[in-house]
Amino acid sequence: MTVKRNVLLNPGPATTTDTVKMAQVIPDICPREQEFLDIMKDLRRDLVKVVHGDERYTSVLFCGSGTLNMDVCLNSLLPADKKILVANNGAYSSRAVDVCRYYGMPHIDLSLPIETPVDPSLVDKALAENPDVALVYTTHHETGSGVLNPIREIGAVAHKHGCTFIVDTTSTYAMRPINIIDDNVDFLMASAQKGLQSMTGLSFVVGREDKIKESAAFPKRSFYCNLFRQYDFFEKTGEMHFTPPVQTIYATRQAMKEYFAEGETAKWARHTRVFEALHKGLAEIGLRSLIKREYQAGLVISVCYPDDPNWSFEKIHDYCRDRGFTIYAGKVGSVKTFRLCALGAIDACDIENFMKVLKDAITTYGINVRYNS
Ligand SMILES: *Cc1c(COP(=O)(O)O)cnc(C)c1O
Repeated sequence: MTVKRNVLLNPGPATTTDTVKMAQVIPDICPREQEFLDIMKDLRRDLVKVVHGDERYTSVLFCGSGTLNMDVCLNSLLPADKKILVANNGAYSSRAVDVCRYYGMPHIDLSLPIETPVDPSLVDKALAENPDVALVYTTHHETGSGVLNPIREIGAVAHKHGCTFIVDTTSTYAMRPINIIDDNVDFLMASAQKGLQSMTGLSFVVGREDKIKESAAFPKRSFYCNLFRQYDFFEKTGEMHFTPPVQTIYATRQAMKEYFAEGETAKWARHTRVFEALHKGLAEIGLRSLIKREYQAGLVISVCYPDDPNWSFEKIHDYCRDRGFTIYAGKVGSVKTFRLCALGAIDACDIENFMKVLKDAITTYGINVRYNS
């Protein structure tokens, strides 16, 4: 069986290998069988290994998309009468603020410019002024803009003030190397369909086991999405509390094998090749990226719409998609951008092919690539 290969340049789900796709096709199995529990046990161990955690760290699996992890960490790890500080410079940290608002959890939205990385000294200042903050939260790579945040420095500041540091690493995990210990991270999170190049429906939190145990005494704000409850059930039974995404877990087992076979350094080098090829192609066409190159995480480019009335993102999208390449809408406030991403099982040659198609699309629609300012 062969499956048509699409090159996804959207920020996840990403292009997968055929071997990962096929790993989902398995004999029907009840997820309470030992055979399946063993797979989850290995997966939990490997998820910690990807970010170089030691025996102090554990991972907890959930059935859901990446946003579920944000919800879980925020609602589960806040002690009574304490506050969350969100170092917010983009769409994903704004989503974390929304989660705080929906649960009515006391929080500070440290709203910062979206086109530059978070300045750790501002986090330091906010924590000095607010001694009741217990959790500091930020996003490693703001997938909406492409900006990388200095988590190691923010984490050091959080720890200086005795706070737990939670980072959304959904769009860096298993791509840009992370060392959970050296990077001063207590909890991080991702979903299987981005860096791991697996399927949708499985997400996970990696973090400090002692802090999860401590959180057993914190207010329970959700029945399904509580970190301690899910952790405790895993520890006692080896099972997910409720039905797991069985086939996605088989795919992720295969994706994990492929991750370790490729290796952290080689995989990051491949993403970097893809990213460089995207920048090279854009420069040749004359398209501009919104965020300064030195602020970019090396995975997402926010491309400014050219100033030509013939420009139509929808038309360009459809033209490229018909030829096997999916581009994505932008997410940087009200600035008109679209995104090209270096995620997934792709390499520089895919980008060279894509750039030919993009150039053809621009010619076909008579677009004059220029900027008025
Ligand atoms: C993709 C992503 C998420 C999760 O989004 P879902 O649509 O829920 O999968 C969360 N945070 C970041 C930074 C992301 O890139």
